Amino acid sequence: MHKRELRYPWRWYFWSAGLAVLVLLAIVTALSLLVNLRQEQRLQQQQHDYFLSRLNHSIHTTLDSVELDVSRLAYSPLLYNYLEQPDTIWLKLLQQSYLSLARLRPEYDQIRFLDRHGTEIVRINRLMGGDAYVVPDEGLQNKSHRYYVAEALRLDAGELYLSPLDLNVERHEVEVPYKPMLRLSMPVYQQDQLQGLIVINYQGQTLLDNLSEVLPAPLSPLLWDESGHWLHGSDGRDWQFMFAEHTGLAVEMPTQWQQMQTRQRGEVAAGDECYVYQWAEYGQSHLHGPRLLLGLKAGQRCSALESRYLERGIQLMAAGSGVGLLVLWGWYRLRRRQWHLDQRIRRSEHKLRLITNEVGSGLIMVDRNGCVCWLNPEAERLLGWTEAELLGQELHPTIHMTLSGQVLHEHACPTLEALRTGERQHAERDFFRTREGHILPVHTTVTPLPGDGADGGAVITFSDDSGHLATENRLREQAMTDELTGCLNRRATMQLLDRLLEAPDSYPGVVLFDIDHFKRVNDRYGHAAGDQVLAYYAQEVRELLRAGDGFGRIGGEEFLIVFDNVSLDNLLQLAERVRNRFDERRCPVDEHRLHVTASFGVAVRQPGESSRTLMARADMALYRAKDQGRNRVEQANEELLETG
Ligand code: GH3
Ligand code: MG
Ligand code: MG
Repeated sequence: MHKRELRYPWRWYFWSAGLAVLVLLAIVTALSLLVNLRQEQRLQQQQHDYFLSRLNHSIHTTLDSVELDVSRLAYSPLLYNYLEQPDTIWLKLLQQSYLSLARLRPEYDQIRFLDRHGTEIVRINRLMGGDAYVVPDEGLQNKSHRYYVAEALRLDAGELYLSPLDLNVERHEVEVPYKPMLRLSMPVYQQDQLQGLIVINYQGQTLLDNLSEVLPAPLSPLLWDESGHWLHGSDGRDWQFMFAEHTGLAVEMPTQWQQMQTRQRGEVAAGDECYVYQWAEYGQSHLHGPRLLLGLKAGQRCSALESRYLERGIQLMAAGSGVGLLVLWGWYRLRRRQWHLDQRIRRSEHKLRLITNEVGSGLIMVDRNGCVCWLNPEAERLLGWTEAELLGQELHPTIHMTLSGQVLHEHACPTLEALRTGERQHAERDFFRTREGHILPVHTTVTPLPGDGADGGAVITFSDDSGHLATENRLREQAMTDELTGCLNRRATMQLLDRLLEAPDSYPGVVLFDIDHFKRVNDRYGHAAGDQVLAYYAQEVRELLRAGDGFGRIGGEEFLIVFDNVSLDNLLQLAERVRNRFDERRCPVDEHRLHVTASFGVAVRQPGESSRTLMARADMALYRAKDQGRNRVEQANEELLETG
């Protein structure tokens, strides 16, 4: 047979929803990574800003102290005294004071006073790595052609010129070993007249060392001049600009250099490195001269953080979507399987329902508390209740009854018994109350269902037993009835009499009668006519009796009427009425109207008397009636007389 498996109908919804959740998770992950990245970037930037500000601060403090010395010299009373009276004494004093300052500050390479033409008046030099000394007159030169002299001579009073940081050049040659030099010059005015210039050559190496000190290892400072020339930190390219023209950042990384020139601070990619930079801020407006560019290596590529996060994001997404898809797939299979199982159950439930609909018996399912959970159409038809009306109702008090319409005692209920014992119960004769209140005789089987807890319960199978009961009643009636006359037969009549006699203090009475000369009727008109006569007169007698009176044919044409508790007088009167009825009626048979009479023997029970003697006494009375001419009523003797 071709087997068709249904496809899981929710698969599109499942996968769309599942994938949507995965995408949502991916978005949330990406967003949280982005937030983390921003935080880390901010942190890194704060760190860089901090280090750059420390570098800047270092330069700031260094220059501050030199500036203080320069202005102290420019405004010193000693210098003014010399300018007013430029003689040897004041000159010597000036030289001595400059010399003591030079000894105090080993980082000062030269301290000079030049006149307004750029000619050195006082010059303190420092021996290589050693002591300072006063340069004798013959060693003094005119330095007007030097840029730091020319620039400073153009300044107003109180202004300061800060030279570029470069290597010391002596006699057109770069001094070796390299001697980085920074010159601070301040013009000297007296009564608004330019008198000269104070110049301090500051050993740049001290400044560079100071810069290195403020950074924690392994960070090292980078330093460029205003034109982007390397002064420090380039690994070999420092001071190159002193020897060749096209060097520095403008050549190495022109695009980045453009950015660096226009922005006060920032970061630029330099190959595999990332430079973080900031233009040095001295803060003083009276300071003239080229600026310095500070920097440090970030220690990783500029986009390293982004790349790392991107990589981490991709890894997370890949792993997450892998695991997510796996979970989704597992879940999907589970749901699909569950759905198929549900379908199978539903189909078999449907089949079962179809079967139970077709079953000729009523079926009721109750839960473990005996409450109705389901009934089939046949049960609905038999009981008149619909499933909805009975659902949840306790079956036993609702429909289980005795024949007389009373609620059946719980212990006699096969359903409750089956639920209690877990054993199959069977009741040949049970009674259910229909919706209209009729009592329906049923034949029930109660099968407990397996399971406990929420499961369990039982199924009651029942069939209408009223047909069976009617047949039974009919048969029972037939067994008690005389077919020809419709009276009780002999056995039933005797049983009735015996039942009435069961109570010792009851006094039933009997009227025994026999049709007179009945043989003649048969002989003359035939047996069938005789039968007609029997049936006709039996009906006539019955009309005289009440429902409770027992009337039976106990022989061929011999009848007995049984009364419960009756007086002899009443009995005699009744017998007389019956006799009269015989006498006055004619039975129509063909064209004839047949007339018969009957003779009667009447007896009332004597205390403790048995049916046998009661009947015997009545019989004797009947014989007496026959003897005495028939068509008469005779009362029985009180005692049974022995006959010969
Ligand atoms: P008596 O007045 O003495 O009773 O006379 P009798 O003829 O009635 O009495 P007997 O006992 O001699 O006859 C009874 C007759 O009743 C005999 C029988 O043929 C007839 N008989 C008995 N049963 C039936 C019956 O079922 N149908 C018919 N047609 N006749 C019956
Ligand atoms: Mg007879
Ligand atoms: Mg007779």
